[in-house]
Amino acid sequence: TSFGPLNSIAKAEETHPLTWRLREDGAPIWLEEYRSKNGYQALAKALRDFATDDIVEQVKAAGLKGRGGAGFPTGVKWSLMPKDESLNIRYLLCNADEMEPNTWKDRMIMEQQPHLLIEGMIISARALKAYRGYIFLRGEYVDAARNLRQAIEEAKAAGLLGNNILGSGFDFELFVHTGAGRYICGEETALINSLEGRRANPRAKPPFPAAVGVWGKPTCVNNVETLSNVPAIIQHGVEWYQGLCLPGSEDHGTKLMGFSGKVKNPGIWELPLGITARELLEDYAGGLKDGFTLKAWQPGGAGTGFLLPEHLDAQMYSGGIGKVGTRMGTALAMAVDHTVSMVSLLRNMEEFFARESCGWCTPCRDALPWSVKVLRALEHGEGQEGDLELLETIVRNAGPGKTFCAHAPGAVEPLGSALKYFRDEFQAGIASVAGAPAAAPQALGV
Ligand code: NAD
Repeated sequence: TSFGPLNSIAKAEETHPLTWRLREDGAPIWLEEYRSKNGYQALAKALRDFATDDIVEQVKAAGLKGRGGAGFPTGVKWSLMPKDESLNIRYLLCNADEMEPNTWKDRMIMEQQPHLLIEGMIISARALKAYRGYIFLRGEYVDAARNLRQAIEEAKAAGLLGNNILGSGFDFELFVHTGAGRYICGEETALINSLEGRRANPRAKPPFPAAVGVWGKPTCVNNVETLSNVPAIIQHGVEWYQGLCLPGSEDHGTKLMGFSGKVKNPGIWELPLGITARELLEDYAGGLKDGFTLKAWQPGGAGTGFLLPEHLDAQMYSGGIGKVGTRMGTALAMAVDHTVSMVSLLRNMEEFFARESCGWCTPCRDALPWSVKVLRALEHGEGQEGDLELLETIVRNAGPGKTFCAHAPGAVEPLGSALKYFRDEFQAGIASVAGAPAAAPQALGV
């Protein structure tokens, strides 16, 4: 399955088909160039040849899964939109609030390929019978906002957005809405609250947004990369799309993947699902810089668990990473080298998660700052007997099923795995172990 050492996206294009083209110079692709490369052909085909339900069926059959990190099947989500035609106000929201540490894939699409996302949104809106769409964009993505707005104007002027798109009778308006910089806004129901002008607290699910979404209306929320897959599925068909992944992968298509950390060639590449993490690290990211050895890695963002070098042969798809004990997440992996203290790294990460908690539910609001307090003490060799067990209790009690949303479970997943694989490093932070007399146990306030 090796494509050899490929340091450039242009080179990767020669070896396997891609659903989109990212440029190495980072320049945006505007309408004329996009159209010259068959851009908006999929939209024309969808409007001409497909009934709305056929588009849903096509995406379902292709097996496209959400690319924001959770991997929920897109076609299934789409088919949950109400069938009742009298519910004629429906929204399509693009979740572009990309704020996962180490993840910058959606930014690349929006800065370089704004028309790909726009085309994907128009086709998806047609499938979902949505009359209006919003791109909820991370506020710091200033270049992406500018490029998207310019591309929307180009598309409007060309009759690709607005009323009677390409003479089909389908109307769709698209807006860019910039967020104010909170990680929780990327949680889909917090995003909906924020778009409505409310505080960005997650809502209880069910009801899912398909039933009660923005302004109480049926709403579909999809990630940037997910929506950007739709034109290729419509243009080239289900069989072509399914054939893009490698043998062994149960997920279809390609995925933007990357590696950061002390690697020789940090970057992002569009790669077939099923490539091994080792190929991603060694063939694409060039392996670790000279003098550094790999101690641990995370497959897809701060909210995924740590894995060991021995897990690098896992295939990059949700079940492949699942087999070695965590989630693929966003597939933007991070290498942790031998110089990094796991206790300090976890303290840093949990500070981020504690700061970004919206405070809506107790396990998240109270447990995350508590973990920071314990980790800080361990980092300074001032931990107490029982601190590791306390951290494990926090991992359990803020884990899946205990909170309104995935924020706290995502926050404790790396902590749980670090405690499992690097227990000695945490143990060494306990005062009695570190050499000083153990402090008398005391209740840790929050
Ligand atoms: P989730 O698993 O709860 O839901 C995923 C999607 O599937 C949602 O749209 C949800 O509505 C839908 N869904 C799930 N069960 C459903 C059901 N029974 N019926 C109908 N729809 C259903 O996860 P989530 O909270 O949406 O996302 C968590 C993930 O987000 C994490 O895995 C993390 O990796 C990722 N994340 C990404 C970023 C980023 O910047 N890309 C930031 C933070 C977190």
